[in-house]
Amino acid sequence: MISRIDLRGSLPGDLRDVLPRAELDVEAALEKVRPICEEVRHRGAAAVRELTARFDGVDIESARVPAEAITRALAELDPAVRAALEESIRRARLVHRDQRRTDTTTQVVPGGTVTERWVPVDRVGLYVPGGRAVYPSSVVMNVVPAQEAGVASLAVASPAQKEFGGLPHPTILAACALLGVDEVYAVGGAQAVAMFAYGTEECRPATMVTGPGNIWVAAAKRLLKGRIGIDSEAGPTEIAILADETADPAHVAADLISQAEHDVIAAAVLVTTSPELADAVEKELPGQVAATRHSERITEALAGRQSGIVLVSDVEDGLKVVDAYAAEHLEIQTADAAAVAARVRNAGAIFIGPYAPVSLGDYMAGSNHVLPTGGCACHSSGLSVQTFLRGIHVVDYSREALAGAAPYVCALADAEDLPAHGAAVRARFDWEVPA
Ligand code: NAD
Repeated sequence: MISRIDLRGSLPGDLRDVLPRAELDVEAALEKVRPICEEVRHRGAAAVRELTARFDGVDIESARVPAEAITRALAELDPAVRAALEESIRRARLVHRDQRRTDTTTQVVPGGTVTERWVPVDRVGLYVPGGRAVYPSSVVMNVVPAQEAGVASLAVASPAQKEFGGLPHPTILAACALLGVDEVYAVGGAQAVAMFAYGTEECRPATMVTGPGNIWVAAAKRLLKGRIGIDSEAGPTEIAILADETADPAHVAADLISQAEHDVIAAAVLVTTSPELADAVEKELPGQVAATRHSERITEALAGRQSGIVLVSDVEDGLKVVDAYAAEHLEIQTADAAAVAARVRNAGAIFIGPYAPVSLGDYMAGSNHVLPTGGCACHSSGLSVQTFLRGIHVVDYSREALAGAAPYVCALADAEDLPAHGAAVRARFDWEVPA
């Protein structure tokens, strides 16, 4: 059901060559999404409708979701789901509110200051997945940080669902209503990212697009980055668990399965110092998989080359392996889990000990679940208030303060053979550089 890689003894030079990763990566998906994005760019709303018919199997008249549909979805929402969404929003707000930045002003010299002023982007397109599963939780994870950052204009896109008459899933619409978002589009996949990047007759272009999605969504974000700002490449989900003999195999198996449930190319990787734990987890998996609803999808994900059990000699080597893998989600289930977690350098989010499963982070920890995948956690962060802010440097120098800097500016301008740079300063002092 799941393959094994034995790295006991010495670790290979480049660990990334031997660690499990999906065959279909974002790079490979780029060529598939390029024509989709071009169609939206040149033919706007008509292309969005055609692509929705092609990929989601439903004909829509307009991608824009009517306001009544959003209001109705909230009125008809199951009270237990409403309570859970409200609690998820409350917890996420607590964490994300604390991420707000205050402007900082540094006096460099008397009369010369640099202020870093944090300014939210103007308009964001928030992607909420809805192919194999529906993700009202991703509405919360996208919208809360954008609102806490002070973004003025928010639009949500999520795939049109055939069984709901071409609208996004009603729970997604209800989550939008709970958060006060009224601009919602029934569009999924690469075409949603392109709609936000280029705009259509129905949807104004956005400055930035954020949110998780499948490989096609992640590829469109990589392709259109620059034209539009993006968060991290939050693609098909991954869980890595670093565990020793103290971990409970039933919990480890359940957590691997919980993330494999997302996608046939989701990755579930156990890194362990204990061959006994590896055996026990392998023994647990078939029964737990058979007992769950999406067992086919999970079986495919666990058997894929992106998943596996990696045996290591000790926790030191385990740390090297998980750092090289740079998982979206990393659970530490070892003795002294907090101390081990403190030594991890690359992960989207870290979950410490037996009572912090990734499912908690998916919905209710207060942390964000939109996290970098495919190894991008070694250079990118999960979604946060910071994602939506730009730090603008504001430079304020008096005549005296500029005079003090002038000889240095002129010396460096000459050294770079850019004499006009020095001249721009000298012009302010009747062409005499103050001593
Ligand atoms: P999705 O909304 O991401 O994708 C559905 C869309 O994909 C469809 O609307 C369709 O337009 C497009 N599509 C489907 N097949 C296509 C093809 N062959 N070519 C081009 N486009 C195609 O929904 P999903 O498929 O359920 O995927 C959700 C993904 O989000 C999962 O992989 C899950 O692991 C991931 N996820 C990631 C995070 C994160 O933070 N990294 C969080 C939650 C979910």
